[in-house]
Amino acid sequence: MDRDYDLIVAGAGAGGAVVAARVSEDPRIRVLLVESGPDYPNLEALPKDLRNVNHASFFDHDWRLRYRPSTTSRPDVPFPRGRVTGGSSAVNTAIALRGQPTDYDGWAALGNPLWSWERVLPAFRKLETDQDFDGPYHGKTGPIPIRRHTRGELVPYQAAFLDACAELGYPDAVDHNDPRSTGYAPHPMNKRGTLRISTAIAYLAPVRGRPNLTVLADSDVVRVLFEHGAASGVEVRSRDGRTARISAPHVVLAAGAIHTPPILVRSGIGPRDVLDRLGIAVTRELAGVGAHLQDHPAIGPTLVPREGVADWDQPVIQTTLRYTATGSHDVNDMQLEPLSFMHIPGGRLLMGLVACVFKSYSYGRLVFESAGPGAAPRIEMDYLSDERDYARIADGLRRAMELVQTRAISAVSAGVRRPTEEELASPEVLERWIRAHAATGAHPSCTARMGPVDDPTAVVDERGAVHGLRGLRIADASIMPRVPSANTNIPTIMVGERIGAWVREELAPA
Ligand SMILES: Cc1cc2nc3c(=O)[nH]c(=O)nc-3n(C[C@H](O)[C@H](O)[C@H](O)COP(=O)(O)OP(=O)(O)OC[C@H]3O[C@@H](n4cnc5c(N)ncnc54)[C@H](O)[C@@H]3O)c2cc1C
Repeated sequence: MDRDYDLIVAGAGAGGAVVAARVSEDPRIRVLLVESGPDYPNLEALPKDLRNVNHASFFDHDWRLRYRPSTTSRPDVPFPRGRVTGGSSAVNTAIALRGQPTDYDGWAALGNPLWSWERVLPAFRKLETDQDFDGPYHGKTGPIPIRRHTRGELVPYQAAFLDACAELGYPDAVDHNDPRSTGYAPHPMNKRGTLRISTAIAYLAPVRGRPNLTVLADSDVVRVLFEHGAASGVEVRSRDGRTARISAPHVVLAAGAIHTPPILVRSGIGPRDVLDRLGIAVTRELAGVGAHLQDHPAIGPTLVPREGVADWDQPVIQTTLRYTATGSHDVNDMQLEPLSFMHIPGGRLLMGLVACVFKSYSYGRLVFESAGPGAAPRIEMDYLSDERDYARIADGLRRAMELVQTRAISAVSAGVRRPTEEELASPEVLERWIRAHAATGAHPSCTARMGPVDDPTAVVDERGAVHGLRGLRIADASIMPRVPSANTNIPTIMVGERIGAWVREELAPA
């Protein structure tokens, strides 16, 4: 039977753009990449918020989602997600970390041997051109350029932060992407000057001319269509509300950890009670859809900058301290990151220092309240519900307070704004403050986890194929079995590289 395409990819973000670019390297495979947001096919057309990496873009290309961080926090805090080709990689801060070898060996131990550190390292090397380091851990020919700010490029607060870490005796990490490293150093970052290098720029821009790759922007994938237990295409809704059916024997969902699960649910794939409640016919019962939502919760002091130290257009982050929490067995499970300025709408210019739990154990969930074509799920994070996470973030805040009192940071900061003396008054009061204010690291993941078929929480197998269905795969942050101890852009691009290579291999005509 004639099909419109050989492969449809839903979502052009950190995972989807990479899959589309890699699969369409084979000129015989016709690929359609569908993106809900707009598409800017060349750099000249790129709006300023997507271009200037000094700020993350929170408004102009955002999904306007809200979430509940914990049971004792406000229920409706803004939750940023990119809606544009490049996805969240097009709006983010461009921190380019990979995580620890133990993260990926942990994925393998959960029944996914293809994802051990040894197996993922070649894809991490393939995706990057590291401009500073060479050797067995780095790539020199990949689409994503990675470099670290030199000492001379650091703004005063970021330079003071590194000095403060040295003052307190933390080690110099030199290269945060060397798996043996720990301590303080400039972040590896995927940017050129102030240009954020998204997957739209690194992966799609160079291959726009391929006749076998079509990008369909401003269009939502509503659901996946099936014939006899196999994917047969997708239903797409354009901005003016018209729907169309597009056929293909293979579909890859890459709409991200918040938006891939509702596409599954609308397609009849999910927990039975959810499908029954929403009146959706069951295609495949999979209890793990929307469960096990993970992220990296963060909290920290805000600081008043000394005169002339800060401004609104400095790079917001240039450096970090990775360390292992007191008593922890998880290496580099914490990061302390200085923010050159804080995004407080209408607020005065403040600096920040966030303690972020990078090996988090708490799980939240997505709650599906509607089967409507554009309905977003309710996002309930349940941060710090696992006591190990609370212990680490509280210890991280204590360390952050120690750092802001060093000579180095006192030279650029006129004092701490929050937490106040009252909030610091007793451990109980401080705990309430932490639990009420810990907020997202913007790294949602694990809502369609990979795992073997006998794992009741697993949604996909280790090649990204949805259990029990043919022709449907997922390639985004939702399939991570556990959030890695790194910002999730580069790990998701790695996922896209690997699943893209497998799909290309499988679809190649004999
Ligand atoms: C403000 C912010 C700052 C961040 N900073 C960093 C950082 O510095 N470093 C880092 O490593 N990570 C960072 N992240 C996280 C990182 O960008 C994400 O982990 C990564 O982009 C996730 O990739 P993904 O493919 O799962 O989802 P995304 O990249 O979000 O891609 C999903 C795509 O699918 C599209 N989509 C959704 N629903 C549909 C639908 N129904 N039909 C069609 N298309 C759809 C979306 O519009 C989007 O383009 C940040 C994220 C944000 C929001």
